[in-house]
Amino acid sequence: MAYATALKCRECGREYPTDPLNVCEFCFGPLEVKYDYEAIGRSISRDSIQNGPITMWRYEDLLPVDAANAVDLQTGFTPLIKATNLGRILGLDHLYIKNDAVNPTNSFKDRVVSVAATKAVEYEFKTLACASTGNLAGSVAAHAAKAGMSSYIFIPSDLERGKVVGAAIYGPTVVAIDGSYDDVNRLCSELADTYPWAFVNINMRPYYAEGSKTLGYEVAEQLGWQAPAHCVVPSASGSMFTKIFKGLNEFEDLGLIPKVNTHMHMTQAEGCSPIAAAYEAGTTRVRPVKPNTIAKSLAIGNPADGYYSLKVIEDSHGDATIVPEEEVVEGIQLLAENEGIFTETAGGVVISGLKRLVERGAIKRDEVTVAYITGNGLKTIEAVEELVNPIHISPTMAAFHEQIPNP
Ligand SMILES: *Cc1c(COP(=O)(O)O)cnc(C)c1O
Ligand SMILES: [Zn+2]
Repeated sequence: MAYATALKCRECGREYPTDPLNVCEFCFGPLEVKYDYEAIGRSISRDSIQNGPITMWRYEDLLPVDAANAVDLQTGFTPLIKATNLGRILGLDHLYIKNDAVNPTNSFKDRVVSVAATKAVEYEFKTLACASTGNLAGSVAAHAAKAGMSSYIFIPSDLERGKVVGAAIYGPTVVAIDGSYDDVNRLCSELADTYPWAFVNINMRPYYAEGSKTLGYEVAEQLGWQAPAHCVVPSASGSMFTKIFKGLNEFEDLGLIPKVNTHMHMTQAEGCSPIAAAYEAGTTRVRPVKPNTIAKSLAIGNPADGYYSLKVIEDSHGDATIVPEEEVVEGIQLLAENEGIFTETAGGVVISGLKRLVERGAIKRDEVTVAYITGNGLKTIEAVEELVNPIHISPTMAAFHEQIPNP
């Protein structure tokens, strides 16, 4: 049973039925799912959640689809790991890594796609589609396979090999476009007007976006039913960033956790940091940029939720950090060598951004801090390949001792 009652324009407040719509007909504002929180409050409790499946669907009451029909690859309830080694190096006593790289297709995108795909089946779409910066591609293709739908995946042609292969293997039609993600997205908006396809991040976007709230719920539950003092999050469109905060606040409003005093910190790589740059400039007007970054999964030059992200930064007394391109790989290494977690470039942005936040005093030693690791390193090996040098020998003791005289 889903408690979504309407779609509501975030700008003018007009309401629409829960249809495959994403913009307001009157003011072109984005639509967001509205819920009957009173009914949810009567249904949900810590117990009801803990008795649910060990996936994101344990929060079904707060998702806009009927969980009984979920297109479900067992996404979510990923580990929240106490990062003692990294914490010691950075000077944090309560640092946690939310390792969302271990989802079925190795990124947090499975959360949003599972919800969008479920809604697409409910609407009887036969084709699932997306404009992707990389991780969405694999997730959409996998969920389409699971749902028995066909799929069209649109990507920029310069995407990492691991992301292209990691999508193509599920049997979609992959279309590589000579242009940036923003060009891909523009084309997809036209296609969405032309063909009866469920574009998860265009006409399904209001439902899709809600999936990211589970990243807030899970962390609060895993911390023993409380919100952290700080969340450090990588952003592309800014959607996940806003929804983590929304998730925490919904839990507070439902009485599941005490008052939320979480500071939301956004991290972006220098080569594509339109939201962080607007924050630094002290404006809520996000100026589109042409991305040129190693963190391709975050390479959205014209972020749909830029403005709303800046509002979340303001409301949560958080901030935004621009990570220099050369520090992205350093962040990947820091996490791998100290915590045994291999993240993709987006995670490198988060760890280096976290380091900067601590150095500038925005995060204090005794404060509970969660760094969101949203994608897996094996998808972006190009970024680190040069750093790894296996020792090559023939299979003899002599050869071993020649290379490693004092093991
Ligand atoms: C898509 C993506 C993000 C950012 O998502 P937005 O909601 O668009 O800001 C972060 N990390 C990874 C690994 C991603 O693939
Ligand atoms: Zn409107």
